[in-house]
Amino acid sequence: MKVSGLQRLLAVWLALVVGAACAQEPQLTLHGEVRRAQFMSYQEVPFDVPEGVSRLTVEFTYTGHDHGTNLDMGVIDPQRFRGWSGGNKHTFTVSESDATPSYLPGPVVAGRWRLLVGVPAIREGSVAQYTVKVWWQKVGTDAASGSTFSQKPIREGAAWYRGDLHMHTGHSDGSCASESGARIPCPVFLTAQAAVARGLDFIAITDHNTTSHYDAMRELQPYFDKLLLIPGREITTFYGHANVFGTTQFIDFRLGTKPVPTMKVLLDEVDAAHGLLALNHPGVPSGEQCMGCGWTAPNTDFARIHVMEAVNGADADGEKSGVPVWQQQLDRGLRITAIGGSDNHNALIKPGQNNAIGSPTTVVYSTSLSESAILAGIRAGHVFIDTDGTKGRSLILSAVSGNEHALMGDVMHVAADVTVTFTVEANDVAGMHGEVITDGKHSMLEGSIFAPGKQVRTFTFASDGKPHTVRVEIRDAAGKLKLLANPVYLNR
Ligand SMILES: [Zn+2]
Ligand SMILES: [Zn+2]
Repeated sequence: MKVSGLQRLLAVWLALVVGAACAQEPQLTLHGEVRRAQFMSYQEVPFDVPEGVSRLTVEFTYTGHDHGTNLDMGVIDPQRFRGWSGGNKHTFTVSESDATPSYLPGPVVAGRWRLLVGVPAIREGSVAQYTVKVWWQKVGTDAASGSTFSQKPIREGAAWYRGDLHMHTGHSDGSCASESGARIPCPVFLTAQAAVARGLDFIAITDHNTTSHYDAMRELQPYFDKLLLIPGREITTFYGHANVFGTTQFIDFRLGTKPVPTMKVLLDEVDAAHGLLALNHPGVPSGEQCMGCGWTAPNTDFARIHVMEAVNGADADGEKSGVPVWQQQLDRGLRITAIGGSDNHNALIKPGQNNAIGSPTTVVYSTSLSESAILAGIRAGHVFIDTDGTKGRSLILSAVSGNEHALMGDVMHVAADVTVTFTVEANDVAGMHGEVITDGKHSMLEGSIFAPGKQVRTFTFASDGKPHTVRVEIRDAAGKLKLLANPVYLNR
């Protein structure tokens, strides 16, 4: 294309640089026109991308569609062809790890990018006015919701949402049987499909250290439009494993070596990327059998750990349970949300088997089914764990004192001699019993064995004005943990 043509084409040309502080506003907005003279040509709309960008998102809209105008879209980065979606999409995102289908993931190179605008249809006398909006996120200043695979909530409305926060695919050591029975790296699609079959609302896929599964997740999210896909990865070190949710940025896992000498450096990196870190299976011993499986990282500041995987797969009880390790930190006065994760490594294993997807299920009270809301619900401790991963079993712990009301995870301030009334609301717990755990000490929840249907029990606690942690578990007749509610914290 001739430069003069481009200049004419871009006669109406405006570039607005908007402060990056406003996450919703694009950093660049470009306007231009296409006329009949450009019919069957490729126009280029250049824009400059600064250094240090981790994700670029572009939206392309134009007028005249109902008068027979059709414009195509593609993009070339400073080094290479980066994708072509023709007329089938009007927006795309590209990052180091993932990109909208039609586009190629890879580094967001600084310099001059060119949006390609193909002109397959425009009638004589028509003028199409187009708008190009460009958003970018800088490394380490990624917006909290910047990584999401779904810009809109999967479902609106506050509710208890059920999910699995720990699972592996063929992007790490997840494997399953191929169509002819060979052992193969299991495709991400099967994990999402199994989660839907299990009745889950959200999943985090947490392959070991890599970020390569995000491209598949971005492709799958529009198809699985009732299942929220949350980016996760299992930071797998010689000193312990930790899931990081809610960012697609690479986080260096080489704890104890030069890039990540200490846990502090790793936590700083997670915070900078707005990730949420959970210590995994902290009750598992570390050694030759499973190097780095327990948590042994020296100088870990547990005050910076907000989430712990108290239940990993079938390890709700017994020696490998993470519950005592979590309780130990609660007893130190910390507020850490207990979650569960199946640690599934084969999407095709059936419900009921160890580490089947959804066993256990983590259930989160969230303002909507979106990545940011679910992660906020987890951070707030509005969470219970259903170790069997049923479809409707529930356990909600709340507390009232005067005008104060607390849901599990919340802090309630109560003076000495004030009585707090706790309410336990449970479903699908016939034949089971409740236990109240106050500052680590178990006592039976008063009342008989639970009957079928919705069960409500209350108990009281006379405050001495000091800090306390009160939580509830529900166990079956054999004493096995079936439901675990996060604590209500008094005066923490
Ligand atoms: Zn692990
Ligand atoms: Zn794992």
